[in-house]
Amino acid sequence: MENNNFNIENHIRPHLMKMKPYSSARDEYKDFDKEMVFLDANENPFETAYNRYPDPQQQKLKKLLSQHKNVEVNQILLGNGSDEVLDLIFRAFCEPSKDNIITLPPTYGMYSVLANLNNIVVRETLLDKDFQPSTEAVLEITDSNTKLLIICSPNNPTGNLISVEHILKLLKEFKGLVVIDEAYIDFSPQESWISKLNEFPNLIITQTFSKAYGLAGLRLGVCYASQEIITVLNKIKPPYNVNQLTQKLAIKRLQNNQNIKEEITLINQEKKRLLKVLGETSFIQKVFPTQANFILIKVDDAQKRYDQFIENGIVVRNRNSQPLCENCLRLSIGTPVENKKLLHIIKTLDS
Ligand SMILES: *Cc1c(COP(=O)(O)O)cnc(C)c1O
Repeated sequence: MENNNFNIENHIRPHLMKMKPYSSARDEYKDFDKEMVFLDANENPFETAYNRYPDPQQQKLKKLLSQHKNVEVNQILLGNGSDEVLDLIFRAFCEPSKDNIITLPPTYGMYSVLANLNNIVVRETLLDKDFQPSTEAVLEITDSNTKLLIICSPNNPTGNLISVEHILKLLKEFKGLVVIDEAYIDFSPQESWISKLNEFPNLIITQTFSKAYGLAGLRLGVCYASQEIITVLNKIKPPYNVNQLTQKLAIKRLQNNQNIKEEITLINQEKKRLLKVLGETSFIQKVFPTQANFILIKVDDAQKRYDQFIENGIVVRNRNSQPLCENCLRLSIGTPVENKKLLHIIKTLDS
């Protein structure tokens, strides 16, 4: 049953096999630390701290990340946010106006936006009432042009993890590539699927510096996959897609990773506190279980409550239009002060 006969060459868009990538000056001469006179890239030679092109392979950052995540450097690709990473995955494996992908709504909106942008058909099968997928339904709507299955775990906007059993079954039986979006994995007690990379050649994992790592403004997304998949994505990525300042500040943040851990712990403590009060609020009909840094709640009237929050200076996300999310609002966990304000307003609205 295992996908042992998976051969990545059968999944890459055929024309990319022959494509010759752009070779930048920094690809031809890579030794940044050596004292050399660099006259190869037409930069302004006068020092501004940013007058030189960044390392196109982000070697220092990847090395640090590989130690943090216990994965080989050649199994990492970095992008300008997960959004770019996902776009590269689409462009590497899906032939426009021919191929299709599968998503599991309610889920992250960018998957279908990126598919539409690339003229890839999106086939959807809804999660069940516990927000778990039907593996049978996924396999049923798969055909020879189904290239990707995108699983978001913990899922946005529902907050739950997709069960290990379901994912294992899909990794073994789905014929295409399985992309697991782990944007929120650091808030959850579950181990990342990174540890299973060497077992499943059809597995791609995306993570981001935008959530637990606190660097949404810098735009840094990460892809972990087999060396073969990373080689393909590297070939098609824009040469300098992760800028110098982002590389520098991401390295600094990883070196202070104790701060990240403390913030995650605090966010999860706050989440527990919020869950308790939300569960005791009469206009909130349901509080969904969450392993992420946000909470999905079902209220009596989502638009009414959304507007009331706005009037009180709080912006939440109205997910009412998403399937299975009727009258649902999504609330991110804020700082203790922000959460206190939220709870105060909820109590006032409830009385
Ligand atoms: C926030 C989020 C991301 C992060 O996207 P970036 O482009 O890295 O900021 C990715 N996936 C999901 C499901 C998200 O909610």
